[in-house]
Amino acid sequence: VDFELTDEQRAFRQVVRDWVERECPKELARELEAREHEYPLELWDKMARAGFPALGVAAEYGGQGADMMTAVILQRELARSLAGLTWMWGISAFCAKAIWLHGSDALKSRILPELAAGRLRIAMAVTEPDGGTDILGALRTRAERRNGGWALTGRKMWSTGAMAAQYLLVLARSAPAAEKRSDGISMFLVPNPSAGLQVAPIPKLGMRALASCSIFLDEVPVPDELVVGTLHQGWHEIMTAIDAERILLAALCCGIIDGVLEDALQYTGQRHAFGRPVAQFQAVQHHVANIAMVQHQAELLTYRAAWLCEQGRPFGLEADIAKVVASDGAVRAADTGIQLLGGMGYSLETDMQRYWRDARLFQIGPLTNEVTRNMIAQRLGMPRSR
Ligand SMILES: Cc1cc2nc3c(=O)[nH]c(=O)nc-3n(C[C@H](O)[C@H](O)[C@H](O)COP(=O)(O)OP(=O)(O)OC[C@H]3O[C@@H](n4cnc5c(N)ncnc54)[C@H](O)[C@@H]3O)c2cc1C
Repeated sequence: VDFELTDEQRAFRQVVRDWVERECPKELARELEAREHEYPLELWDKMARAGFPALGVAAEYGGQGADMMTAVILQRELARSLAGLTWMWGISAFCAKAIWLHGSDALKSRILPELAAGRLRIAMAVTEPDGGTDILGALRTRAERRNGGWALTGRKMWSTGAMAAQYLLVLARSAPAAEKRSDGISMFLVPNPSAGLQVAPIPKLGMRALASCSIFLDEVPVPDELVVGTLHQGWHEIMTAIDAERILLAALCCGIIDGVLEDALQYTGQRHAFGRPVAQFQAVQHHVANIAMVQHQAELLTYRAAWLCEQGRPFGLEADIAKVVASDGAVRAADTGIQLLGGMGYSLETDMQRYWRDARLFQIGPLTNEVTRNMIAQRLGMPRSR
């Protein structure tokens, strides 16, 4: 199998790389991240003008309907500088897919062209305070019929980008008496702001440019036309929309590793000890070689999962493996990078600590690596983990 990028893909990578250098170099990324909970909308507008949000939207609705490999390239290149910022694109793209796959024609025509143009952002509000892994056991948010529409009441946790989003894609129990706990759940597009809706940022370790939020819903009115997909089948339908999420997350982690390696090579080449660049010390070279090995592993696994997805072949096992290897690898690489920079690795004036803080999330979300390992084992035929 040949995972070499085509000429067209290489040209696209260069376009994104140039854009990042020009619009969001690491110095700016560092500064933006310090503005906690304040999403840099001016930068999003530049992304929109570059046409990046259109990549996640089908061509018939004004998007570019990009293939998986193009999306992987975009995600990786953006994450080289600022992982936190780029995930806003990823989340909106998954919400776009949910609407495209399952929404009514009217909803698609209303929402998708706006998403493609970058005028709209959507955040995902699935996780609840009682748990994200056992989300079906924890799901308490309820949707009740009210005045010919719906009223949503409940609480969500960690909705990333909610403060910067004009809609929240909320999962709520619409038929509490359903026999199976995966049934009786619907997807709603909740306008933000709305009466009865409160969004509050949760202070967090990394990804700070992109606030993750607690959501409080108290009888929030949602009209029928903002129900996404088949009523009471929201759980099953949202799963089909986020099936490729692990591949894009792995690509994001590849981008973080790229940033780590770049900075490690640059710093160890110019930092001197005992009259020579520290890059001449064998122990330093081993650390750098370890980062490069992680980069190659993560890249190959991510590209293979993307390639299978593009071929229309099953890719679940490969996506799970890519996500775990790339996220564990990114954390390890950034940790090694901190060591290579010595005291400056611990300083907020360099990016290594930020790479580590950003990468650490992807061992936890959207699914923890423990649970993803369980899924890998089950795909190999092992019993369902208890
Ligand atoms: C910064 C951030 C951003 C996020 N963004 C979003 C978002 O935009 N939208 C959204 O809906 N959610 C979001 N999440 C939520 C995320 O998906 C959950 O945090 C994740 O699913 C884990 O759920 P939990 O935090 O409730 O951990 P828990 O489910 O409480 O897990 C606690 C521990 O138990 C382990 N565990 C649980 N069950 C098992 C099992 N069966 N086998 C082995 N180990 C198990 C877990 O691995 C973990 O170590 C975000 C989270 C964070 C931290």
